Amino acid sequence: MAGLEVRGAEVRFDERPVLDGLSLTVAQGEIVAVLGPSGCGKSTLLRSIVGLQPLSSGEVWLNGKDLTTSPTERRGIGFLFQNPVLYPTRDVAGNLRLGLPLNVPKHERAARIAEALKEVGLEGFEQRTVDGLSGGEGQRVALARALLAEPKALLLDEPFSALDGSLRQRLVDTVRSVLKARNLPAVHVTHDADEAKAIADRCLHMEDGRLREEGA
Ligand code: ADP
Ligand code: MG
Repeated sequence: MAGLEVRGAEVRFDERPVLDGLSLTVAQGEIVAVLGPSGCGKSTLLRSIVGLQPLSSGEVWLNGKDLTTSPTERRGIGFLFQNPVLYPTRDVAGNLRLGLPLNVPKHERAARIAEALKEVGLEGFEQRTVDGLSGGEGQRVALARALLAEPKALLLDEPFSALDGSLRQRLVDTVRSVLKARNLPAVHVTHDADEAKAIADRCLHMEDGRLREEGA
């Protein structure tokens, strides 16, 4: 099946189940929001999809391939964190170069970086210093870097919670249109119901280590 699938995922910390037989299917080009209070296991779910948290049982599939035992760097899944992780000693282009696959020829790199910046609404930002970026711009750079690696899915772990008001709304719009244009399956985690509705095609609630459909 094309898309992202989690089957019967289980994660325990000190015997306490945080994911308890959780299943999730995200179609190609679909954006699913996972809602739930702090501590309910949202980050654990994303970390296990990308391979940073091993499952004690269950499987992760992407586009018909079983990734359950693949290392993170081979999964082809992009990740956006709550705070963008950028290298302060490099400029924006320097940070984006780290996202480029190694097989991209040298003479194409600058053009690919320029294209990615345009895609996230930061045309011409190559030489800007990371310290001088606003929170929203920093997240856009992190998004551009994730996209340069040509991911087959994107996971977003409360990436807008440090931003407010219209800045946040504009970034929600950008992320949504980028995901739709690339037809990527995406899981967006948040504790904010309005944000979930604004970005997602479908909202799921996390409860007792599982997901349930809204209204179910
Ligand atoms: P959320 O992202 O929804 O706030 P998390 O997935 O970060 O929740 O955490 C879910 C629960 O699992 C919390 O109680 C947290 O303390 C616990 N937890 C997360 N990671 C670990 C870990 N590596 N070791 C032990 N407990 C953890
Ligand atoms: Mg979290």
